[in-house]
Amino acid sequence: MRVELPVIVCMFMAKGKKYLSRVVKIGKLKLGGDNPVRVQSMCNTDTRNVKATVQQILAMEKEGCEIVRVAVLDMAAAKAIGQIKKKIHIPLVADIHFDYKLALEVIQQGVDKVRVNPGNIGSEEKVRSVVAACKKKKIPIRIGINAGSLEQDLLNKYGATPQAAVESALRHVRILEKLNFKDILISIKFSDVSRMIAAYRLLAKKVDYPLHLGVTEAGTAFMGSIKSAIGIGVLLEEGIGATMRVSLTADPLEEIPVCWAILRSLDLRRRGPEMISCPTCGRTQIDLIGLAGCVEKELKKIKQPIKVAVMGCVVNGPGEAREADIGVAGGKGMGAIFVKGQVVRSVKEDQILPELMKEIKKITRKAK
Ligand code: SF4
Repeated sequence: MRVELPVIVCMFMAKGKKYLSRVVKIGKLKLGGDNPVRVQSMCNTDTRNVKATVQQILAMEKEGCEIVRVAVLDMAAAKAIGQIKKKIHIPLVADIHFDYKLALEVIQQGVDKVRVNPGNIGSEEKVRSVVAACKKKKIPIRIGINAGSLEQDLLNKYGATPQAAVESALRHVRILEKLNFKDILISIKFSDVSRMIAAYRLLAKKVDYPLHLGVTEAGTAFMGSIKSAIGIGVLLEEGIGATMRVSLTADPLEEIPVCWAILRSLDLRRRGPEMISCPTCGRTQIDLIGLAGCVEKELKKIKQPIKVAVMGCVVNGPGEAREADIGVAGGKGMGAIFVKGQVVRSVKEDQILPELMKEIKKITRKAK
């Protein structure tokens, strides 16, 4: 199943540091290989409601979503795909369970990827017809394994373990490979981080398809973001993963900034400004928490990837934030503004925010 990789890649893999998958195209977007890790999310609108779905996707695009998935529950939803596609700008994925006719319809409607498990759609003839349609339109298939719906025989053999999930994924992969179809992506999701990481690591040793990372049913915004950041982050740091979805019990728009924060934290990709700020301590003599909140709000209006440091004191501030473009280090009722780690002037506390923003605007204007 794994193709022979160049020596240099194998060396990385031997160190457990790099999983270089084959490249798969979704619409115009390339996933896997050396391509950037792509950010995706899923609509929670009724797909049959084209207006609401398009509205949500356009809002997601603004947040930086690069691939979007919609649930296709019936033929009316499948037929809505074409209309949705016309009004959005990012690749559209249809999520289908069991019904091959829905898969055929969304392909006909111009969808960019289908998430369907070939082993769940019935006879070989049905699988063949879906694969033939995908081949014709050059549409990839994502095999999506979820720990909550593993086959009974695998559960009997392994329990709900990473081994069972990987074996399940490989069964679906084999069905597609038998039909000489290799435009495959795979996800293998657990709701707990340890098994999720173990499953993807195991899978990455067995296949060379791009992997879609995610912790499923991760929870509400706070806990879900933390679980996702750990699970996805660990794997990305090891070079595993071509795309990711952070699953939150929240507005899907909230998922996208979390994806970007994970990518930025690992220095894999940057989008918009980044703020670093100190936790405050007994040395802090200004309202640093309030200031950091205001700066963060202001930075939302800026698109350039600048780094801003908001630090509590001059003892450690500029040094700790040396790599920031602009920053402030608080003193007693005042703040020292610094640029690239060098203090350029000191201002009274009530002037810190406007002075900081003035410096930030200078840099962002130059960068335009
Ligand atoms: S930067 Fe200064 S104020 Fe902030 S935590 Fe560090 S020592 Fe304390």
